[in-house]
Amino acid sequence: MTDLHAIEDTFGSFVTFREGFGLDDDRPVDMPIRVFVATADGANVLIDTGVGPPGNAAFMPDRQGRLLSGLERHGLGAEDIDLVFLTHLHVDHVGWALADGEPFFSNARYVAHRAEFDFFEQPGADALETRERLIDLQRQGRIETVDSDGDVHPGVRIRHLAGHTPGHSGVEVGDVLVIGDAVVHELQLANPDQHFFADVDRAHAAATRRELLAELAESGAVAGSPHLPTPFGRIRRKADGFAWTPVD
Ligand SMILES: [Zn+2]
Repeated sequence: MTDLHAIEDTFGSFVTFREGFGLDDDRPVDMPIRVFVATADGANVLIDTGVGPPGNAAFMPDRQGRLLSGLERHGLGAEDIDLVFLTHLHVDHVGWALADGEPFFSNARYVAHRAEFDFFEQPGADALETRERLIDLQRQGRIETVDSDGDVHPGVRIRHLAGHTPGHSGVEVGDVLVIGDAVVHELQLANPDQHFFADVDRAHAAATRRELLAELAESGAVAGSPHLPTPFGRIRRKADGFAWTPVD
């Protein structure tokens, strides 16, 4: 029995259409930043950890930081989480992962793709304090890595969807595929070649996106998304690209 819900940690903007997508448009891109929580085979599973608590952070200073109140509504405290899977190590996905440098979900296994650590520990990779500490914890063996597709827990299956970052991975929970940032905006449904500034490898990200969208349009499977307008939806073909059909 699998149960999967989305929690909107924050809604806001950290980039304009010009900065984010290279368009001639200086309006901010407003988007939700969601975390998914699942119950799978008796375990409480978090997929990503949002932007993090409100405070004086430089990134999205107006953040709402609703993850904990969202978990409470599902009867869960931080200590009840058994597994945290990070789709990738960007700032809007690792926000609640640590508190004072220690795993905030203190009873949870933390898991991410090995290629994330290999990439971000290279000299010259952009710096982020939380990520540096996650890399330390991984070196100490306190964060587990996966390097091939498969179950990290019964009913929780990792799918490497590289390009946005080298280790970027989706997660299948039951019959829903949480797609992470393989697609961040409807612009990328209409045109899967549309890059996003945070794509580490634009060509690889676009190829992965196109392949994934074609597969989802074909299978009719429900996708879960941190950033698209609704947390759950199905992909359909539209003109030369794709479109999102919300699902409750
Ligand atoms: Zn993101």
